[in-house]
Amino acid sequence: ERMVSGDSLPEENTIEKTLRPQWLAQYIGQEKVKHELEIYIKAAKNREEALDHVLLYGPPGLGKTTMAAVIANEMGVQLRTASGPAIDKPGDLVALLNELEPGDVLFIDEIHRLPRVAEEMLYSAMEDFFVDIMIGQGPTAHPVHFPLPPFTLIGATTRAGMLSAPLRDRFGIISHMQYYTEQELTEIVLRSADIFETNILAEGAIELARRSRGTPRIANRLLKRVRDFAQVQSDGMITKEIADQALTLLQVDHAGLDYIDQKLLRSMIESYQGGPVGLSTIAVNIGEETETVEDMYEPYLIQRGFLKRTARGRVVTAFAYEHFGYPYPEQ
Ligand code: ADP
Repeated sequence: ERMVSGDSLPEENTIEKTLRPQWLAQYIGQEKVKHELEIYIKAAKNREEALDHVLLYGPPGLGKTTMAAVIANEMGVQLRTASGPAIDKPGDLVALLNELEPGDVLFIDEIHRLPRVAEEMLYSAMEDFFVDIMIGQGPTAHPVHFPLPPFTLIGATTRAGMLSAPLRDRFGIISHMQYYTEQELTEIVLRSADIFETNILAEGAIELARRSRGTPRIANRLLKRVRDFAQVQSDGMITKEIADQALTLLQVDHAGLDYIDQKLLRSMIESYQGGPVGLSTIAVNIGEETETVEDMYEPYLIQRGFLKRTARGRVVTAFAYEHFGYPYPEQ
């Protein structure tokens, strides 16, 4: 398993539950998203209405699921959760909608992977709070009008552009989740260490934060591994040196790049003179799906200035050449 993947690992479900902040005030970072939501939540509560539908988009592990739970908490309503690909029959969606009480939050993760028929049912559910269901088959088939209580749909996706326009347009609030700053991640690491009852020095937390790809899920995962290392290799205290040694052992470099990122960038430098290289060529080179490269690897590499997207393909920057100690070719 890739240490620095933002995707959740099966065994992480229980620890994630204990680490999740419950309220906006405990939620570290995403200041812009939080600030906007705070206003919309307050206004909806004043009017005693359901909150408008919310679309949260951004790379995995940035806190979209956590934010959905926080919103439900702040609104004082129940949260129901589902995942786009798991809703494979329209009946599954009807069953979910049928359970909603007025004002409840329905969270659908990976909403871009919702099957077409289910997506189309959502249009009327979101806009006018009803669904029309076909009952029976053949000549006796007839539509049944099914009213729903007002509810809030929170959809999560890696890229807003993956949603069809009609679905995207039905979200009143569209929030872009950003990578966390080193300072925010340091706070998250310190908070998690506190929950784990782990001893950590500020410099140790900073080192972990710097190498966690701007992603809380990765920060928490690396913290657990570094904690083990500190226990076995020293007195349990996570210092900067211990964090550095453990992360180096885990093949996470000083910029938070792992062996796959390194392979991706090095192969572009060594075999393609730094590009431009097409996305599909990059994907083949590292043995991943194009979509995975675009959603999981590239955003961080681009944000940190290792890679650039151009009309003719991806290009490695001078900064990346320097990072790996290659001379930058004269242009
Ligand atoms: P996503 O749904 O975007 O993949 P999650 O909401 O599942 O991400 O968050 C992944 C992990 O990171 C969770 O364990 C959560 O506790 C932690 N986390 C996310 N955002 C924050 C935050 N702002 N403050 C503290 N922990 C966070």
